[in-house]
Amino acid sequence: MTQSNLQISILGSTGSVGVNTLNVIDENPAYKVFALTAHRNAQLLFEQCQKYRPKLAVLSEEAAPEFNALLHESNLDTKLLIGKAGLVEAASNATVDIVMAAIVGAAGLESTLAAASNGKRLLLANKESLVMTGDLLKQAARESGAEILPIDSEHNAIFQCLPQRSTSVHTGASAGVEKIVLTASGGPFLNTPIEQLESVTPEQACLHPKWSMGRKISVDSATMMNKGLEFIEACYLFDVEPSQVDVLIHPQSIVHSMVHYKDGSVLAQMANPDMRVPIAYGLAWPERIESGAAKLDLTAEEPLQFSKPDLSRFPCLRLGIEAARERGTAPAVLNAANEVAVEAFLQGEVGFAEIPSIIEAVRAQIPCEPAPSLAIIQELDQQARRLSKELILKDFCRGASA
Ligand code: NAD
Ligand code: MG
Repeated sequence: MTQSNLQISILGSTGSVGVNTLNVIDENPAYKVFALTAHRNAQLLFEQCQKYRPKLAVLSEEAAPEFNALLHESNLDTKLLIGKAGLVEAASNATVDIVMAAIVGAAGLESTLAAASNGKRLLLANKESLVMTGDLLKQAARESGAEILPIDSEHNAIFQCLPQRSTSVHTGASAGVEKIVLTASGGPFLNTPIEQLESVTPEQACLHPKWSMGRKISVDSATMMNKGLEFIEACYLFDVEPSQVDVLIHPQSIVHSMVHYKDGSVLAQMANPDMRVPIAYGLAWPERIESGAAKLDLTAEEPLQFSKPDLSRFPCLRLGIEAARERGTAPAVLNAANEVAVEAFLQGEVGFAEIPSIIEAVRAQIPCEPAPSLAIIQELDQQARRLSKELILKDFCRGASA
């Protein structure tokens, strides 16, 4: 892929990863923005369109009138598309070379799959879609010749530390890889007494010590479900068994992950905790471009520490590892229950400590099927969401009778 005038669609351009992607493009104007998409934030999407002049913009239906009114007053020739069909068009249009999949949650599934099925360079931030459909997403990429480049900082680090042969099959097993180590900051509650976790607020949970991110992934980081999802993500992306993946708490968030080789060598990737670094790497691979991130000065850092996670403090991490071991439909059910439980927590409907209990109850009631098709996954996703909501109302809702 030559690096000039590549056309990029940024799905979720108003979010934390989306805005960081536009910041990297500011540093590298040879990349051309083809499409920008958002959910409801018509005002910010319109401002982004004024600056980057994409051919397409996509919004949810309820936000379209506001955007169209702004468009009407302007001289922009951006075309507005609506909803999932619009997202799929932004991801699969023949003009597009690179798709940044930065929608949060299962809402990104169809568009992420569309990029993988249409031979794009897929910059994969939307980890939930890989967790839900891991094998199917990889198969779609293999068949179309799409390149999947992980943007999650840990997987991007691992990708940088693996032998660079191909992007569509990130094989660890045959390359002398013994083990992959995902690092985790431990989030805002690493040292909070466990009994106080009952009463933490959404604002406290979203105050991540090292990363500034969207609210859903911030809560996932506080429960460490984020690392559970990343554990599953690593197994799919790099073709490794769960027994070959370890998690280490590393509160400084400087070492983004490591690969242990047979001969005793350990390769690690380090950088300041700034998403522009993995985004720039994904955009330019196998080249390197400016990211705009501050350069790392190890002499100015606190000592780097590493320790094993306490699974009794972080039951969501245990649940993620268990789903990775079961594989099949287990990760999709885990993901759906987590999305509903986190939203209920953010809405003040359930407590922080209830999140793993809701997920565990849903997982216990929906048996894992071994070889999922997309239709089965989508059906179980919906079933798990319905069940999570019922359980929340019946057993977990604040104020519900015991
Ligand atoms: P965010 O909440 O800041 O942004 C989400 C984006 O998705 C927004 O543009 C929003 O408009 C769009 N969106 C939300 N719901 C939608 C819907 N129903 N339909 C269409 N668009 C919708 O989230 P984020 O922190 O940028 O995270 C995005 C993804 O990247 C997540 O999957 C997250 O796990 C992953 N990720 C984020 C970071 C980070 O630093 N923020 C790091 C690693 C991975
Ligand atoms: Mg991550």
